[in-house]
Amino acid sequence: MALRNIVKEGDEILTKRAKEVTGVNDRIRQLLDDMIETMRENDGIGLAAPQVGVLRRVFVVELEDKIYELINPEIVKTEGTQTVEEGCLSVPDYVGTVERPAYIKMKGLDRNGNEIEVEGTELLAVALSHEYDHLEGILFVDKALEIKDIDEIENDGDTDEQ
Ligand code: ZN
Repeated sequence: MALRNIVKEGDEILTKRAKEVTGVNDRIRQLLDDMIETMRENDGIGLAAPQVGVLRRVFVVELEDKIYELINPEIVKTEGTQTVEEGCLSVPDYVGTVERPAYIKMKGLDRNGNEIEVEGTELLAVALSHEYDHLEGILFVDKALEIKDIDEIENDGDTDEQ
């Protein structure tokens, strides 16, 4: 495994729609391993491939000791909304209040190329929605209801970066 550099806001790769993965192979599995290592190193709860400079439809999320890996994710269903404050490893200086689904269900491929479904509520729904947006070239600052400079916030240790 290897750490990869995290691309920051301002790099145009973060604004592009990522391309479908055409074959789940060892390169993709290496990418997943590197993304997990990079996410953990940076204390994130999620990371999408464009954030490490790879314009492919791949993301990882880790919550409560469970890892979710999705390749070519599609949104199957959403229900309700929740409004939460979130951060992003690619936008390190800001947090934003964003409206997200209260429940989301996605399907995609796992690291062996098998079809899987992932569903979640609360923070998992936020993270899945946030990472999916990265694959569409959307950052939270593009849709936030309110954006705050992280320097203006005290005790901000618990905003989850994705
Ligand atoms: Zn992000």
